[in-house]
Parts: sequence; C-alpha cells; structure tokens
Amino acid sequence: MCGIVGYIGKDNVTDILVDGLRHLEYRGYDSAGIAVFENGQIRTVKTRGRLDDLTRKMETEGKPAGHCGIGHTRWATHGGVTTENAHPHRQGLVTLIHNGIIENYLYLRDYLMNKGKRFASETDTEVVAQLLEYYYNGNILDTIIKVLSKIEGAYALGIICKDDPDTLYAVRKDSPLII
Ligand code: GLU
Repeated sequence: MCGIVGYIGKDNVTDILVDGLRHLEYRGYDSAGIAVFENGQIRTVKTRGRLDDLTRKMETEGKPAGHCGIGHTRWATHGGVTTENAHPHRQGLVTLIHNGIIENYLYLRDYLMNKGKRFASETDTEVVAQLLEYYYNGNILDTIIKVLSKIEGAYALGIICKDDPDTLYAVRKDSPLII
C-alpha cells in the first residue's frame, strides 16, 4: 500500500508534502505526486519512480508554491507503473489521491464511458475523480457524500476542488487515515 499526505497551514506546502511522503517510503511505492493550490489554480506534479525523481522534476518545472495540498506515493494495483497512472488524478475542477482499491470500478467505468466520458489512466482511482465531476452540483461536500454511496472497497482519499480553494477533504473506509 502507498501513502497519502495532506497539509493546510502557514508554511509552504510542497516541502511538507515531500517530507511527509518520505516518512511513508518504508511502505513501498512505485510512483509519486503532489497537487497544490497555487494562486487559485491547482498545480500537479507527478512521476513514476522515486521521490527523488519527483523532486528532480520539480527542479526542472518549478516547485509549486502554496499553503494547501495533497501528496501521494502509489503502489500500483490497477494499471501499470506509468506517470499517467500516478496520482493525483484530475477531472474538471476536482483533483484527488487515493490509497486502496475501488472494487466496483469496472462497472463504474463502463457506466461513465456509456455517458461519453473518456479515461486518461488505467486506474480504479480515476472513476472516483470522474464521478465527482459527473455529479458535481456546486457543493463539493454534497457531491463527495453522493459519490461515496456509489463506490465499494477499502479506500482513503484526499480531495481538493478548484471551486473551494485552500480546503482539503479527507475520506476513509477500511483504510487508515490520521488527521
Ligand atoms: N488502486 C490505486 C492505483 O492502482 C491506488 C493504489 C495505492 O494504494 O497506491 O492507482
């Protein structure tokens, strides 16, 4: 299993997320990524490989600056070890990270594809991002509660929404998550 970290506070979030993920490295992982609110936009950096690969990528692309964000180390269960499959996953206004397995993801994926949705990754995780966008009614908390009634499995989720800056939503079911 992977690790997920979220932070809201006074300090610059990027170093805190990477440091938090380093503390979870012992759990094993194959990819890493972060998403940060930067001037009202959500900026994502992710890569297959190690945290050092992520920090090198940020040296090239620039390090996101902000005070609210989420970070993830992935241990692939659904989909290959690729940068596209690395978390965070974004759909529309919503960006999320996920630890665990969405057991009914094939059913949900087919449902969404029949509605014309196209998937950018092979992960079970992306169905949650797609569902959040599909059902989004202007209130992300309501939408999260609705989507949780549709997904099955064991999971911890960290969710941010562009409409709701500097707010972090955390959800868990049968997976550990500490606040
Ligand atoms: N099932 C998700 C994936 O394959 C999350 C795996 C994990 O817990 O790292 O991307």
